[in-house]
Amino acid sequence: MRMPADEIDVLAAVAVDSDTPFVSTALRLKAPGEHEIRVRIVATSVCHTDVMTKAKGLCSFPIVLGHEGTGIIDALGEKVSGFDIGDHVILSYDFCDRCPQCASGKPAYCNEHGSLNFAGVRPGGAKTHRRPHSTNADVFGSFFQQSSFATYALSHTTNTIKVDKSLPLTLLAPLGCGVQTGAGTVLNTLQVQPGTSLAVFGCGCVGLSAIMAAKMAAAKNIIAVDVNPRRLQLAEELGATHCVLPSEFVDARQVHTHIKTISSAGGCHYAIDTTGIPAVLRQAFDSCRPLGVTAMIAPGVPGTEVCIEMQGLLPGKSLRGVVQGDSVSKEFIPRLIDAWQQGRFPFEKLITQFDGIDSIEAAVVAMSRGDVVKPVVIIDPDYRSTECS
Ligand SMILES: [Zn+2]
Ligand SMILES: [Zn+2]
Repeated sequence: MRMPADEIDVLAAVAVDSDTPFVSTALRLKAPGEHEIRVRIVATSVCHTDVMTKAKGLCSFPIVLGHEGTGIIDALGEKVSGFDIGDHVILSYDFCDRCPQCASGKPAYCNEHGSLNFAGVRPGGAKTHRRPHSTNADVFGSFFQQSSFATYALSHTTNTIKVDKSLPLTLLAPLGCGVQTGAGTVLNTLQVQPGTSLAVFGCGCVGLSAIMAAKMAAAKNIIAVDVNPRRLQLAEELGATHCVLPSEFVDARQVHTHIKTISSAGGCHYAIDTTGIPAVLRQAFDSCRPLGVTAMIAPGVPGTEVCIEMQGLLPGKSLRGVVQGDSVSKEFIPRLIDAWQQGRFPFEKLITQFDGIDSIEAAVVAMSRGDVVKPVVIIDPDYRSTECS
C-alpha cells in the first residue's frame, strides 16, 4: 500500500500575461491524484508552442507552461502501475487512450488533444497550482499534463516515458516534442524512402530534426530552406545535401524552380513546412512533384488560412497536417535514443543549455531571436555547471 503524497512547495516560472516576462514564483503543487505521477524536474526545453501560447494569449493566465520536461519520479498516485519512485523519465504530450484515434495507434490525433494539452487544467477541470497564501488553486498548469517550467510536475502514465538511468536527462528534454515532431514527420508520417527528394522549409529544432531523420532514411536530396545562413550551415552539417537562402532569389517562384531543378522529375517527393507562414507553406506545396506530399507542422494562430491553387492539387498531390510527427512517444523516443547512441541522430547539436529556472525568460528570448536553436534549461541544481556550456 502506497502512502498518499502531500501537496508540496515548488518554484515555477509563471506566465502572468502575454507581454510580461516569466516570473519565478513560489507555488504549492497539489498532491498527485490517484492516476498521476509527480516528477522532480531535472531539465526542460523551451518549444515555440510555449512561446506562441503565451505571446498570442492562447491559454488562461496565470499559467505554468513547459512541455518538454525530464526528471526523476518523486511520488506516485495510488492507482499508478508500471512506474517506481526514482525512475528517470521524459515527459511528452498527453492523450486519452480511449478514443478511436488512440485505439488505432494514432494518439497524436486524440479527440481530447486540445483539452488535455492546452486547457491548463486536469481532466475534469481542477487546477494543480496555487499561491502559498491563497486557499484556492488559482494558477493554471497541466500544460501538456506536465507544466515543466517548474521544479516539480504532475504527469500521467500516458505521457511519461521511462529511460535508462545512465542517459543524460539534461540532453533528452527536446525529444518529448520538438525533436520527435521533426523526426517523426519524416519517419512516421511521410515514411521517406531511400533515394527520394525532400525539402524542409525552416531550420529550427523541428526542421533540423527532420533533416537528421531524412539522412537516416537515406533520402538522396535533402534540401534545407531558411532565411538564416547560420541555420543553413548547421543544416548542412546535419545532413542537408543542398541549402537554399531565399534572399538569393528574385521571388518565390524562382525558389521552387531551383528546388525542382535539384530534385528533377517535376519536384520533390516530400516537402515539410515548419514555419506556419502561409506563403512558405504554399512554396513547400509548389516544390512537390505529382503525387508529392507536403506536411504542415505549424498551423499559425487560429484563423490563419492558406491559398493553394486547385489545379496544383490535381496531379495527386496532397497536403497533410501533422501533430507530433505521428509519434507514439513510448515507442518512438527510445528509437531516437538508440539512433543517437549509434551516432546517427546527433540532436545534441541543436541544444544550448541555460542554468536555473530564472533563466527561462532568457532562453525564450534567445530562441525567439534565433540566437539559439533549442534552449534546454537545467532546473535541478545538482545537474548544473558540470554539463552546462
Ligand atoms: Zn484519444
Ligand atoms: Zn512543443
